[in-house]
This record gives sequence, structure tokens and C-alpha cells, in this order.
Amino acid sequence: MKIQSIRGMNDILPDDSAKWQYVEHHLAEILSSYGYREIRFPILEQSELFNRTIGSVTDIIEKEMYSFYDRNGDNLSLRPEGTAGCVRASIQNGLLHNQSQRLWYIGPMFRHERPQKGRLRQFHQLGAEVFGLPGPDIDAEILIMTARLWGLLGIESTINLQINSLGDLEDRVRFRGELVSFLSDHRDQLDDDSRLRLKSNPMRILDSKNPSVQSLLSDAPNLSDFLGESSREHFDQVTNLLDSAKIDYQVNRRLVRGLDYYSRTVFEWVTDSLGAQGTVCGGGRFDRLVEQVGGKACHGVGFSIGLERLLLLLDAKSAFPDSVNDRLDVYIVAVGNVTAEASAIAETLRTAFRHLRIERHCGGGTFKAQLKKADKSGARLALILGEDECANRTLGIKYLREKRDQDTIDQNCLIEHMNNIYS
Ligand code: ATP
Ligand code: MG
Repeated sequence: MKIQSIRGMNDILPDDSAKWQYVEHHLAEILSSYGYREIRFPILEQSELFNRTIGSVTDIIEKEMYSFYDRNGDNLSLRPEGTAGCVRASIQNGLLHNQSQRLWYIGPMFRHERPQKGRLRQFHQLGAEVFGLPGPDIDAEILIMTARLWGLLGIESTINLQINSLGDLEDRVRFRGELVSFLSDHRDQLDDDSRLRLKSNPMRILDSKNPSVQSLLSDAPNLSDFLGESSREHFDQVTNLLDSAKIDYQVNRRLVRGLDYYSRTVFEWVTDSLGAQGTVCGGGRFDRLVEQVGGKACHGVGFSIGLERLLLLLDAKSAFPDSVNDRLDVYIVAVGNVTAEASAIAETLRTAFRHLRIERHCGGGTFKAQLKKADKSGARLALILGEDECANRTLGIKYLREKRDQDTIDQNCLIEHMNNIYS
């Protein structure tokens, strides 16, 4: 029996890794240009960290966590998201002491969900968190930054911003009372899941995907009517800043997000090009989370991007440029007893052209067989070295992707010749 991977945990194969690198490169570049710095923290944390922050009546904690006891009997979990670990690391290392921070991270997250397109058990997120800034200026900047990112990746026309305000804790407590009394009056129209949540976490019902629950909710009380003065003002300022920056958005009063720690601004970037898994990026403000993890009160706001979904969207929109590939530039064909010379030429080229992908044929074989490999590799050039060329200190150059006659050049002119080709 062959050993198989775990369901929902995919391998990223060499044919795809250039796409990942392309996206990761652009993400890192944009974040850096806004002053963010990378933080790396463990994939495994004490389960308590997630139980305390994400909320006990959320999909993640109720049914998606990979938790286990290790050899010491400690209860550990694979991280289902990055914010909790980022907050933990920032508190523990004193990053939040009298200073603000703009941080980003990237890596795998783990949730035991039903695998399908855009939904995996090991998936990857790029996340960013800002600490120590109350907003609304930074809330808007985050949205402007993500919009820039979609522009850079060429998907701005297929992805839309939805935003909402969850208000402050006191606002939500007042709202929850009204919501529960409304929903209790219409208990018969709720599904089993929502009935359970009526007791445990009624706000979650707003998130229900069930159409009949959704239609009931259109008559339900609106959280926006319960926002206190300062939450309302905060939200207005965020939307005003988005207007000034000419960022389109929709206010979605149902948007609550799947985690408990949010307050005030929440948002999602959604697309209808990916079927049901349309949320590519989600985030919001979490002004109480640092305290919940045991730090001194500190404002926070952030977002995370689901990278599998982002790549699916770029594929769906054919937004990857042609240059995103893992094709070779140069293939060195070495026939006969010329290994040392071929190796020396390859090394010289790699010194002179650090960014070219150069493969030297290894393993011998006929000229014909080697040239076939050169062609298959996608390389633009084949450099040909046989025993005659070696004796004459020359090299053949075959242009594999152009209608152009083969050249024979002096080995001393190779760098100059290559410079002409690649200028
Ligand atoms: P969804 O509503 O799709 O379940 P979520 O609200 O659970 O998403 P978040 O916790 O906000 O997702 O995570 C941020 C982003 O990470 C999502 O918008 C999505 O792009 C991605 N994501 C979340 N869960 C998965 C998963 N199981 N597989 C792939 N990507 C995921
Ligand atoms: Mg989910």
C-alpha cells in the first residue's frame, strides 16, 4: 500500500510553485512599501490560546481544530488562523509596549473542514496586523493597501469590498438582547443550527447560509441601529476616507465574520468568480484581543488573505503574466569527454548572469538526445560543447525559440554575446 497524504492537505508541486512565488513576492513588496515587517511564530500553540480568543461557539472551535495531547500531556493545537499567535508573540516579546507595530506573516493554517475547491484542511494565509493604533485612519489605510494589491495582481475588477461595523461590546450586548427576542418570536422559522445558536451565540445566526433563515433576518433588528456615537463616527470616517481614496465598497449590515474577537470595523473582499468559496480576504478591528491574551489593553486591526483562493482567482482571470514560469534560460549540451570544460563555462555564466536559470546536461548521451532535452526544458538557448568545440575553444549557440541560424562563437566572446541577447 502506498502511503497517501492526509485528505485536504495538498502538495504544491514544482509546476505551480512559480505562481506561489509570484504572489508571495508581490504581497511582501506591497506590505514592505507600507512599512510592515514580517513576524514568524510557531504553527503549534497551546490550545488555550485559540479557545480563549476565537470564541467557543464558532465553527473553528466547535468543529475545525486539530488538537491533541503531546507526550507531556500538554493540550496543543495546530493554528487555525494567525491573529491569535501573532498577538501572543507580540505580547510575549514586548512588541506592544508603548509603541505601534505593523506586522505581517505568511504560512499554513489548519482546519478540519470538508475539503472542496477553495477549502482545504491545510491552507495558507498571508496576514497582517497593526497594533497600537485606534483608527479610523489605519483601518482605511489597510483597505487602501489591499485594494492596491488587487490592482497590482490585475484582479481589481473581480473583487469587491464589503464592510460593516460591529460596534463596541456594549453596543453588541444591547443588540443581542433585541435580536434574541426577535428570533425567539420566530423560532419555528429557524433551522436546528440556528436554534442552538440562539442560546449560545445568537450573533452567529446573522452569518447563516440557510436562505430561509436569511430571509427571516431581513426583518430582524439591525446592528447598525445600536451603534454608539463613537462607533458610528469611527465607521463614517472609515467610509469617508475610502470615498476620498476612490475605493468602492458596499456596506453589508449582515457581515459579522466567523470569529468572536472583532469589534467596530469588519470587512471582506469577495468575488463571485470562485463559486461558494468567494471570500478571498477578511479582517477587521480587534480592540480587546490583546487583553484577552493577557497583555495590556492595545488596539489592533488586521486582515488575512486565503492564498489558495487568491491563486484560483488569478488563474480564473488569466492574471498570471507569461513570465511566471519555471522555464530554463540556458541548457548546456555537453557531448563527449568535455565535462570539466562544460562545468567551467556554466560556472562562468552563473557568475556573470546571476538571475538566469542555467542547467548543464548531466548523465551523458548522444547529441540528439541532449538537444531533445534542451528543447523540452523550455530553455531559450542551447549552448553546445563537443570535443571539437573544446579543442577550438568555440561554442555552438542554438536559438531554440526563434527562427535564427545557429551561431558558433569563440568561448572568450560568450559573455559579450549573451549580454547582447539579454539586453
Ligand atoms: P469561510 O467563510 O470561507 O469559511 P472564514 O470566515 O472561515 O471563511 P477566515 O477565518 O476569515 O475565513 O480566514 C480568512 C481567509 O482564509 C478566508 O477569507 C479564506 O480566503 C481563507 N480560508 C479560510 N478557511 C479556509 C480553508 N479551509 N481553505 C482555504 N482557505 C480558507
Ligand atoms: Mg470558515
